Amino acid sequence: MTSSITSTGVGTAERLAAIRGGTTAKRHNARTIAALTRNPGCARRAVLDCAGVDKQRLAAYVDFPARFGQSGFAIARGNAFEAQVKASGAAELLALLRDRLGLPIPEVSYDDLESVTGREKESAEVRYARSRALLIRAAAGADDAGTLFDHPLLRIDVAGQSVYLEPDLIAFQANGRFHVVEIKSFAVVDGQADAGKVSAAAIQSAVYVLAMRELLAGAGFDPEIVSHDVILVCPRDFSNQPTAVLVDVRKQLAVLRRQLSRMTRVDQLLAALPADLSFDLAPDAAGVPTREPAAIVSALQVIEARYAPDCLAVCELAYFCRDEARGCTAALGPSTREALGGIEHVETVLGLAGDRLTPAEEQEEAAALLKAAARLRAEVLAGSPS
Ligand code: SF4
Repeated sequence: MTSSITSTGVGTAERLAAIRGGTTAKRHNARTIAALTRNPGCARRAVLDCAGVDKQRLAAYVDFPARFGQSGFAIARGNAFEAQVKASGAAELLALLRDRLGLPIPEVSYDDLESVTGREKESAEVRYARSRALLIRAAAGADDAGTLFDHPLLRIDVAGQSVYLEPDLIAFQANGRFHVVEIKSFAVVDGQADAGKVSAAAIQSAVYVLAMRELLAGAGFDPEIVSHDVILVCPRDFSNQPTAVLVDVRKQLAVLRRQLSRMTRVDQLLAALPADLSFDLAPDAAGVPTREPAAIVSALQVIEARYAPDCLAVCELAYFCRDEARGCTAALGPSTREALGGIEHVETVLGLAGDRLTPAEEQEEAAALLKAAARLRAEVLAGSPS
């Protein structure tokens, strides 16, 4: 992670480490970056994620546990499916790429950039440098360069910080272009898959495409050398047989670039926060947190959040933030807030609609619309059969 000096005179990396406390940083992955870009205006998530805070643990500690995530069974099933597809030098994957997608992949070499004996403990910087060197060699068309790259470690700039991506993908090169392969354990039944899951996989793949494009563009290659068509590999028809489909992620790439560019740099966010802010649970010798949940709640409240209903699907702190935002129209979602004339509090909306509040000058138009809506509702209810 890059570091700069914040207004407190402490480096950004040091401040983020102090905010995290004495625990190991949670690494970003494509899922967390995709989630972050769903709500780029939320400083709370940006700071906690950049600091590598375990939001799931934090949410449970303040009594608002996250209610999403894969079950242990689903994770085990996903891992088994991925291992099957990648077994024997990704033999099943190669057959799919050749047969189902008609890709002219000749004899391949397979580079596992993570699990080569003795390399597991290498630092992210070293693994990134190795991935970068191999991918650049392949892009330059070196005869002995690899074709399939498992677990390349990638890097992307988020809120002014370089973050490494958890390597859970395969990239391969065919006809001079790289493709990203995502292996997912949700089923494709009769050619159809859950649209929400495909959409989430597409945005996660787009994160990898963007990171690979940045890596190769930094070495002077045309970023288009990394295809916008990613390959989604899933189990077919309730079996363990894999199937592959091409997914065009151009739209997701455009959204991702726009959202990442809208994020405030984390050092600017830190400049507005107290120097002693920390989410350290300060465990005692037995591992029991010594800080009161109320102290953690106060620390959370220091960082501005921007709750939206979307958070429920993507952020571990969603139930905490929803409770905090209770009574605010923003908690009902941007379109509802807009439909309610942009008025901040639900109580004000109800007061204006019921003519119990005198609107301020800038609220007059919204108040007239709200009163009309309340009148219509009352008429409909009065006319409806009991
Ligand atoms: S749940 Fe809270 S912290 Fe997470 S993105 Fe939403 S507002 Fe931000």
